[in-house]
Amino acid sequence: MSARGEQRVRGGHPWIYRADVVSVTAGPGDIVQVIGPRHRPIGSAFFSDRSQIPLRMLTIGESVAGEALIRSRLEKAIAFRASLALDATAYRLVHGEADLLPSLIVDRYGDHLVVQALTQGTDRLLPDITRLLVELTSPAGILARNDPKVRDLEGLDRHVTVLHGEVPESVLVREGPVEYDVDLRKGQKTGLFLDQRENREAAARYAHGRVLDGFSYHGGFALRLAPQVAEVEAVDVSADAVARIAANAARNGAANVHAREANVFDELRRLERAGVKYDTVVLDPPAFAKNKASVANALAGYKEINLRAMRLLAPGGYLVTCSCSYNVNEEMFGAMLHDASSDSHVPVSIVEKRMQGRDHPVLVGVPETHYLKCFILRRVE
Ligand code: SAH
Repeated sequence: MSARGEQRVRGGHPWIYRADVVSVTAGPGDIVQVIGPRHRPIGSAFFSDRSQIPLRMLTIGESVAGEALIRSRLEKAIAFRASLALDATAYRLVHGEADLLPSLIVDRYGDHLVVQALTQGTDRLLPDITRLLVELTSPAGILARNDPKVRDLEGLDRHVTVLHGEVPESVLVREGPVEYDVDLRKGQKTGLFLDQRENREAAARYAHGRVLDGFSYHGGFALRLAPQVAEVEAVDVSADAVARIAANAARNGAANVHAREANVFDELRRLERAGVKYDTVVLDPPAFAKNKASVANALAGYKEINLRAMRLLAPGGYLVTCSCSYNVNEEMFGAMLHDASSDSHVPVSIVEKRMQGRDHPVLVGVPETHYLKCFILRRVE
């Protein structure tokens, strides 16, 4: 490995790019020993023969990662989540890089686990990881949601497979006061957007009156806020999502949640023309910036929806606004909100700056692990 690669590892970043790999003696998915420029052992890593990131560090120094290390990292990740005493039966158990288990995701949905192996290294270890998870958590079933696009970059096929026990068509979970029926095989991500749990809680500290939940998916924000507000309009472009929101609202007895299928961009314009005002607006769009090249367009999109949402707010109203694009960092997101506020002539104050939930922690030195921003703004007058 090059001197630049070594410096990166010393700085705490586990990813080594192709340009910093000098020569390789390894096969796809191997755990390899990484040697520095002066033949110094740097550590051990997952190797991928396809990715632009061929090495993901597992250990630093002379020891080479083996099953004992993987087991101990899984144990620590699981113990950490237990220590959080989350008021939910669905949450993230293993958050990849932040748990020093690069490219491995494990989410718990009640008695079931959903895993994602996103590189050749974790894909190869999946049988061992499954055995360890069974031993450590005794789940009723484990599902591999190995269908994300990133697996293409690794030359891995995409599939959804039961790895252990049984996984029913739908699983019932609870998040705070809200009960969800989740389709672990077909839902987005691993079924639900678990990373927003604490932001839904935070939104509940302020939400009141008439609420618009834009990009609602299965009604995460809408259902959490419903009991304390007059009315919630939940909007999503997907007919499937709208059907789920309606079913979840019925399950939770939330008669004041009304879901409709629409494009939020069009809907915000329509509502503005109609002169409708809201006391609370939530915006939780999908990642607009999937890569660096799309950042400018993404910021234009974020500004458009935020500017219009600000105009829809009644004085004293709240805007809960999120971005899950890690290419748009917190500073850029803040600057975009400033632009939206000045262009819309709506004075807003920042009441909270938030990120993904504590079960999805950020690894210091690895900005890619801080992907979710959630600002709570208040229209001052
Ligand atoms: N707020 C949700 C998660 C939102 S995920 C929660 O708390 O669980 C993003 C959602 O935006 C997806 O459901 C997707 O269908 C929807 N979506 C994407 N583009 C959209 C658009 N232009 N208008 C409305 N919904 C859109």
